[in-house]
Amino acid sequence: MADERTLRVSRNESRFRDINEALRRDLDHLPHRPELVPFVCECGTSTCSDIIEVTFAEYEQVRASSRRFLVFPDHNLPEYEDVVEEHDRYFVVQKHADTAALVDATDARVFGPPPD
Ligand SMILES: [Zn+2]
Repeated sequence: MADERTLRVSRNESRFRDINEALRRDLDHLPHRPELVPFVCECGTSTCSDIIEVTFAEYEQVRASSRRFLVFPDHNLPEYEDVVEEHDRYFVVQKHADTAALVDATDARVFGPPPD
C-alpha cells in the first residue's frame, strides 16, 4: 500500500497532466500548430514550474499510458518511478505499481474528467 508521501507525489503528477491536457485541447483549435509545444513538467515536486518543449507526437506517445509522465531531465524521483526514455529535452517516467491505481483513476483519457 502506498504511503501518504507516495500518494502526494502521484497526485502532483496527475495535476500537471491535467494542466497539459487542457493546453493540448486548446491547441487543437489552432489552425497551425507550433512544432514544439511548451508543456509543464509533470514531475512530483509541487514547487516545480519548469517548461518542457516537445512535439505533439512526443507528447501523445507519453499519454498513451496512464502510468507515464513527461518530466524535465533529471526531475525523475527514483523512489517512485523509473525512467523509461531519456531525451535531450525531456525524460519519460513510469510510475511504480503501488500507485498505478491512482494514476489510472486520475487519467481523464481513460475514465473521463473527475466529477466536480
Ligand atoms: Zn519538474
